[in-house]
Amino acid sequence: MNETRTTCPYCGVGCGVIARVEQGAVSVRGDESHPANFGRLCVKGAALGDTTGLAGRLLHPVLDGERAGWDDALNAAGDRLRAIIEEFGPQAVAFYASGQLLTEDYYAANKLMKGFIGAGNIDTNSRLCMSSAVTGYKRAFGADVVPCSYQDVESSDLVVLVGSNAAWAHPVLYQRLAQAKRERPEMKIVVIDPRKTATCDIADLHLPLAPGSDAGLFVGLLNAIMAHGGDASAFDEADAACTIAAAWSVDRVAQFCDLPVAAVTAFFEAFIHAPRAVTLYTMGINQSSSGSDKCNAIINVHLASGKFNRAGCGPFSLTGQPNAMGGREVGGLATQLAAHMNFVPQDLARLARFWGTERLAQTPGLMAVDLFDAIGRGEVKAVWIMGTNPAVSLPDSHAVCQALARCPLVIVSDVVAQTDTSRYAHIQFPAQAWGEKNGTVTNSERRISRQRAFLPAPGEAKPDWWIVAQVAQRLGYGQAFAWQHAHDVFSEHAALSGFENHGSRAFDISDLANLSLNDWDKLEPVQWQPAGELARGWRENGRLRMVAVTPQPARAQPDALYPLILNSGRIRDQWHTMTRTGTVAKLMQHIAEPTVDIAPVDAARLAIRHGELTRISSPRGVMVARAVVSERQREGSLFAPMHWNGVFARQGKINALVAPICCPDSGQPESKQTAVRLSAWHPTWQGELFFRDNVTLPPEIHWLRKAGAVNHFTLAGETLLQAWLMAWCQQHHWQVQIARGAENLNVLAWQEGKLMLAFWSAKRLPEIDSAWVDAAFVRAPETPFARHALLSGMPAGEQKAPGRTVCSCFSVGEYAINAAIASGCDSAAALGKALRCGTNCGSCIPELNALLAKALLPEAAD
Ligand code: SF4
Repeated sequence: MNETRTTCPYCGVGCGVIARVEQGAVSVRGDESHPANFGRLCVKGAALGDTTGLAGRLLHPVLDGERAGWDDALNAAGDRLRAIIEEFGPQAVAFYASGQLLTEDYYAANKLMKGFIGAGNIDTNSRLCMSSAVTGYKRAFGADVVPCSYQDVESSDLVVLVGSNAAWAHPVLYQRLAQAKRERPEMKIVVIDPRKTATCDIADLHLPLAPGSDAGLFVGLLNAIMAHGGDASAFDEADAACTIAAAWSVDRVAQFCDLPVAAVTAFFEAFIHAPRAVTLYTMGINQSSSGSDKCNAIINVHLASGKFNRAGCGPFSLTGQPNAMGGREVGGLATQLAAHMNFVPQDLARLARFWGTERLAQTPGLMAVDLFDAIGRGEVKAVWIMGTNPAVSLPDSHAVCQALARCPLVIVSDVVAQTDTSRYAHIQFPAQAWGEKNGTVTNSERRISRQRAFLPAPGEAKPDWWIVAQVAQRLGYGQAFAWQHAHDVFSEHAALSGFENHGSRAFDISDLANLSLNDWDKLEPVQWQPAGELARGWRENGRLRMVAVTPQPARAQPDALYPLILNSGRIRDQWHTMTRTGTVAKLMQHIAEPTVDIAPVDAARLAIRHGELTRISSPRGVMVARAVVSERQREGSLFAPMHWNGVFARQGKINALVAPICCPDSGQPESKQTAVRLSAWHPTWQGELFFRDNVTLPPEIHWLRKAGAVNHFTLAGETLLQAWLMAWCQQHHWQVQIARGAENLNVLAWQEGKLMLAFWSAKRLPEIDSAWVDAAFVRAPETPFARHALLSGMPAGEQKAPGRTVCSCFSVGEYAINAAIASGCDSAAALGKALRCGTNCGSCIPELNALLAKALLPEAAD
């Protein structure tokens, strides 16, 4: 038995995890001593042990589509990059990094690009996530300093969640908040979101405002604060901010946000009268064409009300990714330098001195959307993509794919062999995955934690920092990249933070620069910039600043052709583009395919029924999703998950629809509002297909890949699949069993007693228990009766399928929960006692409460 303390690689909460390896199997539990989670884990974190397998891994370098040795692949990268730099200059090269990288990897990439290749063109997927928050903090405080901790959330009197479905996107922080609310019921929670999300489960007040109208609410709140004696005199530019706010009366706010006056008033009064308040915000605020202004509108109300720089108070931007904050520390964004330095003469000179370079980039580089535009125009001729999947995650993804297809040199470092992005790679470097790599990450509350290796690196996988250093050597900069260990990189990064700092930069972890390897290895989670040190700003005059914000509507507005507004976001059990979580069957059970949430009134108008397939279209692309008709959705707006991509679905990619409209200050795309059209799609048939081996489906079939013991696809089509299935079986000499009715076709194929293929189809999607089918692939049914039961799709003599999975930890389905409610369970705790649901990670408790409300108080539900 071997246990290692490490950190979860998913969201910015940054939970501590204890990984245990026993006879080759990995299991995890929460680390009770870690101050981010004190032992809690959400369902994704709890399932980490299931993601450490090698299926789909990239285990060796690939050069021009062929397996290659490390030397050949690194030499090719070095030679081709050098040739492009020599012919077109450093601005023709770009790196696109990721909040999945460890700080040491990020530091190395930024140093090579900005410090030695000599262009600012390193940006990151964090641009899509929280660059508006960075801009907001820098404008207000003069530095990218998050002025809150998780303890502030727990100890506050009022917690406002705006543009944040923390119950699904930051589950452990949500659980901490829910626990604090149980302990101090007088604590008030306000959720501001167009949707009634799972987070509303603990809210005293929900404001379902018009999509994108949040700035109006906070500018109006500033007006109300000033009218109640707020004092903004200590802050620069307060007059301009307050003058604009003075025109935002409650009535005007209510109209702008499409909210009842009473609801706006209730929120304003709650904020003004709360002794302490924290505002938690994330993508719903940041991903906007005026995202930076929205962040400053939030910061302004905390400054003017004095709910700032003391315990239980502050504007708290949550980071989406595990190391988005680490990326901010090392200068992973194209608009900043390492260690919180900026493109100003004294910082440029200081950094050049520290790195010993004469090639340091002197101007900011291209931000993510502009960067891929420049690739498309042929101005950037080489891009190195590290640990991210821009072909899925950037807006206007068809244009991004076209740009990558045209780019003369695409290098991809990743743990996964086949992604939507890697199909354009000329060179692929196999990177080490979670559990294999070693370094540090920084969470939303500025807490640096160790990610420790507990598994041997498989195949030829290497750490990202090592790959960068090897390429740097081949470009002639080996001396500056002569690290032997991630610890060496960390020490350099920490030393830089204190270099000629003398209290002038908020980010200073130089106390950690001289840790021995042993001490670094044992490093306990450490928070930089303890709370309460922001009384002075980090601007030259040492003052904090309020930014004058004029609320702007979203750029995307509905019209006659595209009358609905599509919102995008995370679902509970998936992470990013699913490369890790999409391989775990139990994480696919909660929501197993792209869905589109639609209000009943819109569904009725468009004649769309719950569970039907739909097509969502914008001027840029089309997505297929299954309708979820829900009272929780605002009329006129839709919601679809952002996770699906070309590996997991045909036409499931939401960014195929999204326009590349960005906030002019932060460069962050407006991913939350896209004008679209929705229509029902009635395919001729829908089916479930299970295959023992890999299969290439006919191109006209709509498919979704699902995790399981064998290849599992949900299909839909206009043309029948029977001929193709029969030809496939004949080609492989399989014995075939068929059951055909007026509307259904069921097929089993066998080879020497082994089940090779199973297919059920009908006009509507047949309900098939995938765990039962997976079991039949492992051990074939032995009797003719059992085989016929399998062919029918109905387990013989057993109860029916459990329904949609609600509790992923214990695989508890909706039918079982409803049955337990019908038999007397009247609380989440009672359901937990009866079925165990909700008793492990607790992520499903909001849904248990929703099912309870629906069954016990149908008129109050939704
Ligand atoms: Fe991981 Fe969940 Fe914690 Fe986020 S909340 S760090 S996903 S365990």
